[in-house]
Amino acid sequence: METQNNWVARSLQHVWHPCTQMQHHETVPLIPVSHGRGIWLYDMDGKRYLDAISSWWVNLFGHANPRINAALKDQLDKLEHAMLAGFTHAPVIELSEKLSALTGHALGHSFYASDGASAVEIALKMSFHAWRNGGQTEKQEFICIQGSYHGETVGALAVTDVSLFREAYGPMLQRAHVVASPDARLAQEGETATDVALRAAADLERVLQQRQGKVAAVIIEPLVQCATGMAMHDPIYLRRLRELCDQHQVHLIADEIAVGCGRTGTFFACESAQIWPDFLCLSKGISGGYLPLSLVMTTDSVYQAFYDADVRRGFLHSHSYTGNPLACRAALATLAIFEDENVIAANRQKSQMIASAFAGLKDDARVKHVRQQGMIFAFDAVVDDAERASTFSRRFFSAALQQELLMRPIGRSVYLMPPYILSEEEIALLAQKTMNVFEEVMA
Ligand SMILES: *Cc1c(COP(=O)(O)O)cnc(C)c1O
Repeated sequence: METQNNWVARSLQHVWHPCTQMQHHETVPLIPVSHGRGIWLYDMDGKRYLDAISSWWVNLFGHANPRINAALKDQLDKLEHAMLAGFTHAPVIELSEKLSALTGHALGHSFYASDGASAVEIALKMSFHAWRNGGQTEKQEFICIQGSYHGETVGALAVTDVSLFREAYGPMLQRAHVVASPDARLAQEGETATDVALRAAADLERVLQQRQGKVAAVIIEPLVQCATGMAMHDPIYLRRLRELCDQHQVHLIADEIAVGCGRTGTFFACESAQIWPDFLCLSKGISGGYLPLSLVMTTDSVYQAFYDADVRRGFLHSHSYTGNPLACRAALATLAIFEDENVIAANRQKSQMIASAFAGLKDDARVKHVRQQGMIFAFDAVVDDAERASTFSRRFFSAALQQELLMRPIGRSVYLMPPYILSEEEIALLAQKTMNVFEEVMA
């Protein structure tokens, strides 16, 4: 039988891993996964890891979820794939109906792709093209928020403000305007989270005034800017953003790829502010973490801007796997779990349990900005030494593996984004292991 080390060596030889400086694998271990069950992943030696970050924020109801597995097996014997141009099928129809209903039909039209970055590209192109079809050809610019992350294809990277990902490709990009972040951690002496949000909104207003008539859309990750380190903001920012977009006739794109599907406490994060965007991007959790699927939901008014006899006025964007039936079926099974198991209400309780399990952090001088939004919990480690700070994330990741834990801090922001199925005991275990790792890394 082949050993775990053999698999590692073979992977390093021929697989170029994402988001990784491959040379670091000379010291940081690579884990060959054999199978998954619930919140656990198992390596080829049988060692287990608690998937505390939902395998990059995609898994909602555990690995090898029985209901999603059954739905996929059933779908596999019916239809694995058919092209969506000129053809349609039950899974994509039912999914589009259900999603529309979840927005009270405010966003009644869903356009499909396979990954998050493509959904962002679609929203950007659709906004641009909708204005163009309406004769407003001047509206060509986009605004994004400081620290935003919207994916890494060239269009998505143009509205991404994480320099580590963007820097090397600067000359390739049509850069967007970057406005102040409502990140509550930016509060100055005496300021509340609301103050920070309103201050950031004023910056947005300034740019909208400056670029009057030139801006197609503002794109935002509502409530939590995840990739920049779980930066959270007051929902008042979203209400103000909606008002400003209406006032200046600019589209609002909500990138809910990470924060949608119940992650922040409501099914869509925008619900927390009682607003709807003009475009809402979903991916990651929508298929339960099973298959690549993304989509952009939009309004009747945007849809009508393309509805015409002229082909060139249509939205001709396409992907080979658009609306893949297996992926849509996984999404339907995922939505059925939300309905049948009252997941949003259950998550509210779990979110409180997580807060209680980490209550001790409040008076820990090695920690700042303990924060939480639904099923995302985060805190920042205080590490003064520059060298130790720069290696904090990798040291934490390695130490976590020793504790049967899969966690990858972003810089010094330690976060949990677990599957929704974890039990009270598992929450306690997760908190205890996290603190063990933290002690070790801070020692
Ligand atoms: C992950 C993510 C994306 C990109 O999705 P991919 O499927 O990785 O291309 C875009 N926006 C946000 C907010 C994300 O978290």
